[in-house]
Amino acid sequence: MGVSHFDKPKSDVKQPCLAKPIGLVEGPGGLGQGGMAATLQEDSRETESKYEEYGYNAQLSDRISLDRTIPDYRPKKCRQVTHAADLPQISVVFIFVNEALSVILRSVHSVVNRTPSRLLKEVILVDDNSDSVELKASLDQYVNRRYPGLVKIVRNNRREGLIRARLQGWKVATAPVVGFFDAHVEFGTGWAEPVLSRIQEDRRRIVLPAIDNIKYDTFELQQYASAAHGYNWGLWCMYIIPPQDWLDRGDEAAPIRTPAMIGCSFVVDREYFGDIGLLDPGMEVYGGENIELGMRVWQCGGSMEVLPCSRVAHIERTKKPYNNDIDYYAKRNALRAAEVWMDSFKSHVYMAWNIPMTNPGVDFGDVSERLALRQRLKCRSFKWYLENVYPEMRTYNDTLTYGEVRNSKASGYCLDQGAEDDDRAILYPCHGMSSQLVRYSTDGLLQLGPLGSTAFLPDSKCLVDEGRTRAPALKKCEDVARPAQRLWDFTQSGPIVSRDTGRCLEVEMSKDANFGLRLVVQRCSGQKWTIRNWIKHGRH
Ligand code: UDP
Ligand code: MN
Repeated sequence: MGVSHFDKPKSDVKQPCLAKPIGLVEGPGGLGQGGMAATLQEDSRETESKYEEYGYNAQLSDRISLDRTIPDYRPKKCRQVTHAADLPQISVVFIFVNEALSVILRSVHSVVNRTPSRLLKEVILVDDNSDSVELKASLDQYVNRRYPGLVKIVRNNRREGLIRARLQGWKVATAPVVGFFDAHVEFGTGWAEPVLSRIQEDRRRIVLPAIDNIKYDTFELQQYASAAHGYNWGLWCMYIIPPQDWLDRGDEAAPIRTPAMIGCSFVVDREYFGDIGLLDPGMEVYGGENIELGMRVWQCGGSMEVLPCSRVAHIERTKKPYNNDIDYYAKRNALRAAEVWMDSFKSHVYMAWNIPMTNPGVDFGDVSERLALRQRLKCRSFKWYLENVYPEMRTYNDTLTYGEVRNSKASGYCLDQGAEDDDRAILYPCHGMSSQLVRYSTDGLLQLGPLGSTAFLPDSKCLVDEGRTRAPALKKCEDVARPAQRLWDFTQSGPIVSRDTGRCLEVEMSKDANFGLRLVVQRCSGQKWTIRNWIKHGRH
């Protein structure tokens, strides 16, 4: 079993949105024209400190041309498409906090170089209260000299977080269409025309250029496979396989319906964005807004799509330079989205984060205005959205109770899925992260570990009494020889009893077990278990 589970409790800190798309296409890569070859070895210690600072190789960026071209990863067909002569103009918003100057400037150069000038109304830079001096006067001077009249700079005098920073950009935008981008992106040839066409056809479409990767260390390009943007029940975004009807159609250039967005790049009709409520200004720092917008636009009569003919490359960085606790903010913001848009499915979000629905220990603020917005826009239910837009989501409406499970004989210890590959449940000091999420269903299944959330990943495993040994097993629920082996009776502060053997799940003191505690199934001796959270309305 590789790295022992006992050395280090499993961390729930996930890298949001960094999961590679399924079926990732490794492109030929390359620095692009105008790039300067440099190896990591020749870089100095300064490089390391700049990695620390930005989560990418800023030192190398300083040496790469601001006007480099990147490979054209569009499906071939895209190059033949012609677009209307009267496309709407776009305002392009970049938001940033403490990014490397050369990286921001390359984003600006790139959008100017790759967008027909008649279509680019303006570039708006929103400085979300950066600390670094190079992003002040020298940035102003540079863009005013290089692109006089084209660039507006907005400076927040306190840190607003990426959600409200984008809204600051929207407020000063004047073109009929607005695009929002991270300030570490580069634009592919012809990226703008297909996006503007789709929005001209229907202003209720939120259009996402397809994302490719700029490697954070070498700044090489890496093509990503065609993907939609989904998420799990924690509302962390991830790339997902495009919908079946898109695959069946066999047209690589066709728009891909998507339930939500990764968030580093999206384009929307300026007024329509205002009409449907922008982004939730009550969200702080980072995360959740990208999923919330997806739910909202679909539930309220619009749509969201990825356009493979429009491509933007984005640096997936190794760390966030602005906050060490984005996990907390992602959770907080996720709860806002859940409370407003997810109806009774909001329980799934609480469950995924392994927190109670009442007194969750997270202050998500006031959502009354967002609920009023939902009323005003007469939006559809979350159930409709799941069925029509995100059918790949697994639902857990049969949940009776969930959370940490404790035994009175071993206070401070919780049932835990243990190492992912060894099919053995264990006891481990309670930490409340998802390896200690236990879900007990109305059928009698006891499942341990993070929710599978979507059909793209296996679901959490079932606790099983196979009868032969005293060790309870953890198995894929469908792999159990006799269905009854995975069924348990469990009431709060009572025993956990196998329906197949009548044996009980219990704790045994043992010198040679980890922490001196072993989990066994044996003849019932009267041990009692408690589980944290009961869902009162298990059914819809
Ligand atoms: N950002 C911001 N204010 C914040 C946090 C982030 O303006 O408080 C900007 C950041 O500079 C970047 C964008 O928001 O341009 C998205 O953040 P990041 O790239 O760190 O997220 P990721 O793409 O890694 O998910
Ligand atoms: Mn980013």
